[in-house]
Amino acid sequence: MSTEPVLVVGGGISGLACTVELVRAGVQVQVRDRGRRLGGRMASRRLRDTGTQWDGRVVDYGASYFTAKDPQFRAQVQRWMDSGLVQEWTDAFAVWETDAMSGVRQGPMRYRAPGGLRTLVEDLATDAAADPDRVAFEFPVEVQSVAVQDGQLLIDGVDAFQTAAICTPGPQAGRVLAPQLQVPRIQDIAWEPVIAVWMVFEQRAWPDLDGVFVNGDPILTWIADDGRRRGDDAPVLVAHVHPLHAVRHLQDPQAVVPEAIAAVRRILQIADYPDYAQAHRWSLARPISALAEPFVLLTEADQPDLAGLRVGFAGDAFAAGPRIEAAWLSGRALGLALAGSAE
Ligand SMILES: Cc1cc2nc3c(=O)[nH]c(=O)nc-3n(C[C@H](O)[C@H](O)[C@H](O)COP(=O)(O)OP(=O)(O)OC[C@H]3O[C@@H](n4cnc5c(N)ncnc54)[C@H](O)[C@@H]3O)c2cc1C
Repeated sequence: MSTEPVLVVGGGISGLACTVELVRAGVQVQVRDRGRRLGGRMASRRLRDTGTQWDGRVVDYGASYFTAKDPQFRAQVQRWMDSGLVQEWTDAFAVWETDAMSGVRQGPMRYRAPGGLRTLVEDLATDAAADPDRVAFEFPVEVQSVAVQDGQLLIDGVDAFQTAAICTPGPQAGRVLAPQLQVPRIQDIAWEPVIAVWMVFEQRAWPDLDGVFVNGDPILTWIADDGRRRGDDAPVLVAHVHPLHAVRHLQDPQAVVPEAIAAVRRILQIADYPDYAQAHRWSLARPISALAEPFVLLTEADQPDLAGLRVGFAGDAFAAGPRIEAAWLSGRALGLALAGSAE
């Protein structure tokens, strides 16, 4: 088993799943994330300055929900359910087809987090920090460069590590990694954007549903009823803008809000306008394909310059992603591999 310190870049669910396994194996870990909070795309925030009674209420504006198929992930989900962080949400969403509701699509159970999906990543961080001497969280700290110098991985020209776990989307990793650390089959994966728009209404005045898959609409692909998701029945909806439309508005995501509102009102036949709406841009929302392998580990076997050094890659572009479950499985598998722990 290796116990040398590991740098984990990325405090999303893959980075934290990796960290948990490393810490469990007795490895010292430093986690760096450029965000103000951990969570990455499992993003939730409190509503503020909405001019409504819902200020202070949490809304999920990144991932909407998750599914759980793998036995290991199901065991993790069960732990979250036992501690009240996760609940079953629904196995049925409405489907809207081109110009009308066309029915309901049954699927696997979708899980929700009443406190917001971010709480699950924070819970993994708490788990890892049970041994505070083993783990340090540094955020917001953006890693700017990972170079290979004097037989070490030199981070931002200052800190040296032998091992790094890069748990970010491939394009974000590509921007900071030295040329000999680039892995073409990761970098070749294309990512699509989404703009999420959340809206607070005066009252619930739409059909009884948990969410709607929107097919054949140029503006939206999905609407979640966040009141149903959260379980408080607040009149809050979250709409996802179609990637082909989002890509035109990445410089000014707020500009898409009026169109998103019009599309939500049209699809759900809502007479009212929302009292408040806000947008968030996810330039790299989802990889459009994912590698089947759970992670990639670059060593001197791939690149002679790396003698004694290891750089691992994990996230939702692995483990047949792109989903929360895949990101967790990927990060966990990389953590186990770096720690030399048996599965
Ligand atoms: C709008 C939207 C809807 C989605 N819906 C669903 C869904 O319904 N179900 C589902 O299963 N999945 C969904 N997903 C996908 C899901 O959110 C991801 O699969 C999962 O959260 C990926 O986790 P991750 O740890 O791999 O990456 P991320 O969560 O992206 O974490 C990467 C972290 O790396 C950090 N970072 C990046 N570069 C640097 C750097 N240079 N230095 C330091 N830190 C850095 C980022 O700040 C980020 O916190 C959705 C995603 C989006 C955006």
